[in-house]
Amino acid sequence: MERPQATSPRANLYDLSPEAAAAALAPVVQPSFRVRQVQEWIYAHGVDSFDSMSNLSKQLRSDLAERFSLAFPIARERTEPAPDGSVKYLFTLEDGALIEAVYMPMGSRTTLCLSSQAGCAVGCTFCVTGFFGAGRNLTPAEIVGQMHRVRLDQGIPTEALNVVFMGMGEPLLNFEHVVTSLEIMEQAISPRRVTLSTAGIIPGIEDLARLERRPNLAVSINAPDRERREEIMPITKKYPLDELLELLKSFPLEHGREITIEYVLLAGWNDSQRDASMLAGLLRGGRFKVNAIPFNPDPALPDWMKRPTDAAIDRFAAALNRAGVPVTVRRSKGHEIAAACGQLRGRTERRRAAPKA
Ligand code: SAH
Ligand code: SF4
Repeated sequence: MERPQATSPRANLYDLSPEAAAAALAPVVQPSFRVRQVQEWIYAHGVDSFDSMSNLSKQLRSDLAERFSLAFPIARERTEPAPDGSVKYLFTLEDGALIEAVYMPMGSRTTLCLSSQAGCAVGCTFCVTGFFGAGRNLTPAEIVGQMHRVRLDQGIPTEALNVVFMGMGEPLLNFEHVVTSLEIMEQAISPRRVTLSTAGIIPGIEDLARLERRPNLAVSINAPDRERREEIMPITKKYPLDELLELLKSFPLEHGREITIEYVLLAGWNDSQRDASMLAGLLRGGRFKVNAIPFNPDPALPDWMKRPTDAAIDRFAAALNRAGVPVTVRRSKGHEIAAACGQLRGRTERRRAAPKA
């Protein structure tokens, strides 16, 4: 698996699982109960400097800083809040790669949408991240760092968060680092508050099923039959729809939990009532709910792809409901921000590519 080159000889504690971090800290931090104190600062408070650890001695803080780092990515841009309050953050990583995260206030809780890769090799034709192509795997510190930077900027305690891996990249193609970041987050957030969204990478879903503490699972299906799915999601030739659905129907779910099926609605292409009944047919025999996502257009994407009218979206959702499938529509006033991560970076990439005036 690809690993970014370490630019600092000091190990970043946010790159280690809590168990590995405790082992690395043990020789430096005595007495041993202080290891737990250091980890509290890291996991519950999300600090990015040892100086903030106010209940530790100055000597210990400087010993730690000599051996370890707590570096996070730097937020380089933040959009004005959309009408629904969502804000998109653009980060520059050490090697210049750009990634983004989205803050979405939702009543008493807040959802953060995080990126898992600095691009995406899956190449779905309706997705801006896919359009710009593959990018490297993010490190656990870069994943967890997005969460804490946004959280600190917005002044939200870690416990009030829901986290979704629905930003840039395919989390199951960066499995090892995503699992480490889940282990770190789970020190402060219940796995029930974390959702991982995948394009349907079958071996990755099998690995996920074997984890002891699993996040919620969301799977992007996007089309009601194999042929159409292959047309907009080329990777599904390798991971076919029937095999994927069979696997999802046997995926271990806790009581009261369901798998979310994401379905991008493209006007006149997959949004008819017949498409809704075909989708309901596919989902029969499993515990699923559908999240219908009206297509979010972008100049980088094919012209024929259009967002359906609100009436067509309502008809599609009603048809699914009639067929007994619970459905929610991701239709916020700030849909230009919240509906599809990947587009702020798209604009930045275009600005970079454009000749200077
Ligand atoms: N790679 C993962 C997670 C990131 S994409 C996955 O594909 O599930 C997160 C969601 O955004 C997916 O459900 C995807 O279908 C959706 N999406 C991508 N581009 C979109 C667009 N232009 N309009 C609406 N939804 C989009
Ligand atoms: Fe990658 Fe998901 Fe975009 Fe497909 S929809 S290209 S899997 S980020």
